[in-house]
Amino acid sequence: APALIDAPSGRTWSYARLQEDVNDVAAGLIALGLQAGDRVGIWSPNCPEWTIAQYATARAGIILVNVNPAYRQTELDFVVRQSGMRMLLTAPSEKRSDYAAMAQTALESGGSLTELVHLAGDGAGSFNALARAGRAAGAAGEAAVAERMAGLRPGDPINIQYTSGTTGFPKGATLTHANILNNGYFIGELLDYTEADRVVLPVPFYHCFGMVIGNLAALSHGAATVIPSRTFDAGAALAAVQAHGGTSLYGVPTMFIAELGLPDFDRYDLSTLRTGVMAGSPCPEEIMKRVIAEMNMNEVAICYGMTETSPVSTMTRGGDSLARRTRTVGRTMPHLESQVVDPGTGEQVPFGAIGELCTRGYSVMTGYWNQPDATAEAIDADGWMHTGDLARMDEEGYVSIEGRIKDMVIRGGENIYPREIEEFLYTHPDIQDVQVIGIPDERYGEELMACIIPVPGAPAPDTASIAEFCSGALAHYKIPKYVQIRGSFPMTVSGKIRKVAMREEAVGRLAGTGPAMP
Ligand code: AMP
Repeated sequence: APALIDAPSGRTWSYARLQEDVNDVAAGLIALGLQAGDRVGIWSPNCPEWTIAQYATARAGIILVNVNPAYRQTELDFVVRQSGMRMLLTAPSEKRSDYAAMAQTALESGGSLTELVHLAGDGAGSFNALARAGRAAGAAGEAAVAERMAGLRPGDPINIQYTSGTTGFPKGATLTHANILNNGYFIGELLDYTEADRVVLPVPFYHCFGMVIGNLAALSHGAATVIPSRTFDAGAALAAVQAHGGTSLYGVPTMFIAELGLPDFDRYDLSTLRTGVMAGSPCPEEIMKRVIAEMNMNEVAICYGMTETSPVSTMTRGGDSLARRTRTVGRTMPHLESQVVDPGTGEQVPFGAIGELCTRGYSVMTGYWNQPDATAEAIDADGWMHTGDLARMDEEGYVSIEGRIKDMVIRGGENIYPREIEEFLYTHPDIQDVQVIGIPDERYGEELMACIIPVPGAPAPDTASIAEFCSGALAHYKIPKYVQIRGSFPMTVSGKIRKVAMREEAVGRLAGTGPAMP
C-alpha cells in the first residue's frame, strides 16, 4: 500500500519501500557513530526525506531537532548551540533561503556541529549516500538497528521542537516516543483513518501539525500521506487532492481561506475528500461551514493543542453536532485531562466561566531542553501544562477557546475577547478575513481595531459602516473604534497571525511613523 506520495517530484513510496529506506538511513546514522540521545537537526521545507529522517532517527534513538525553514543565520546558530546538535540535514538552497551556505557557517563556528548532510543530490555527504552506506552495511547494519531499538524506552526523548509562540526566545519542547506516537495514534482513531485514506499535508513538517497530526496519525493507521508542495500553495493543495484521491486535507484557517478564495476553486474535483483537520489558531465558524459544504469535508475536525502537549489536547468528534463541531474545539482527547483555572489563583473556575486552559497526561512534554526555569513556569507541581490560552468548558466537557491571555483587550475595565468580535465580523459579506487587536488609548487604556482583508472586488468597509453593522448585535464597548484595511496579515511560518506585530505596526501608523500597509 502507498505510504508516501510526493506530488512535486512524482515519487511514491510503498510501505515496504519506506520500511527499507528508513532502516537504511537508521543503519547509516549508526554507522557514522551517532549514539542514542544525540541530537540531529533537520532544516528543510516539506519533502519525502523529512518523513524518512523522522522515522530513521526514531529507530536509531536519535533526538530529531526540527529547525524552522524560515530561520536565518542567528536563529540557526542559536538552536544548533542550544540543542548541542551534532549533525544537520539541510535542504538545497533556493531563492528565498541559502540553506547550504548558512549550514556551512554554523558548521564552521566550532561548536557541537560536526556533520552536514544534504537532502538533495547523490554525492558524498548527501542523504542518498547516507542511505547507501546503511544498505552496504547489510546484515550487520540491520543487526545494529535492531540492537539499538531493543535498548530504547517509550519515555526516551525523540524530538525537540523549538517554539516561541508569537513572541520571545525559542524554547525547545522535548517530546518522547510515547508523547508523539500516542498523540498521533489517537488523532488517527478519531478521524477514522484506515489504509484507504490519503492525507494531503500542506502544513509544515517542522511543526507538530505536519509530523504528528499528519505523519504519525497516518502511519499508525496504514494511511498514505501526500506532500502537495514544498511550502504552502493553495492551488497545489487542491490539485494534489484531485490527482491523488485525497480523503483528508489539513490546514490552519488561513490556508483554507486561501483555498476557498482561489479564482478557479470550482475547477478542482474535491469529491474524494471525507475529512481533515483545521487547527493552529482560532477556526472561524463560517470557514468551517464552508469547508464542510464546499470542499466536501463532511467529517472535518478541529484540533486544539500546542507543541508542548504533542500537540493535540482537545478535538471535535464525528458524532458531535454541527454547532459543536464549528463553535468549539471539542472535548479532551482519550487518556488526557483538561481543566480551566483562574489565572490569578490557579483555582478551577465553574463550567461556562473563562479561565486559563491546562492539560495533563501522557502528552505533556518532558520539559524545555536545558531550560528548567522555563519548564517550571509552564508545568506546575501537579503536572498541569499551563497553555496561556483562555477557554471555557461546558458541563458536557466541550471547550471553546476565547483567545490568548496576552491578546485579551481591557477597555475601560471591561475584558474583551477579540475572538468574539472576529466571529461576528466574519458574517459580514464584504470581509474575507479579520483580526481584532487592542491599541493603547489614554482615556480607556485600550481601544479596539479591526484589521480587515476585504473580499476581492467588494467595497472596503470603513469605521462608520462597521459600527453600523455591529450596532444592535454587539455591546457598544465591543464596537471597534478603528478599522484598518489590509492585503495580508503578518504570519509565522506555522500559520499563526502575529498580533503583536500588527499592534506595533498599527500604533506606529496612528502616530504617523509607521510603515505603509502590506
Ligand atoms: P503551537 O505550539 O505552535 O502549536 O501553538 C499553540 C497555540 O496555538 C495554542 O496555545 C493556541 O493559542 C493556538 N491554537 C492551536 N489550535 C487552536 C485552535 N483550534 N483554536 C484556537 N487556538 C488554537
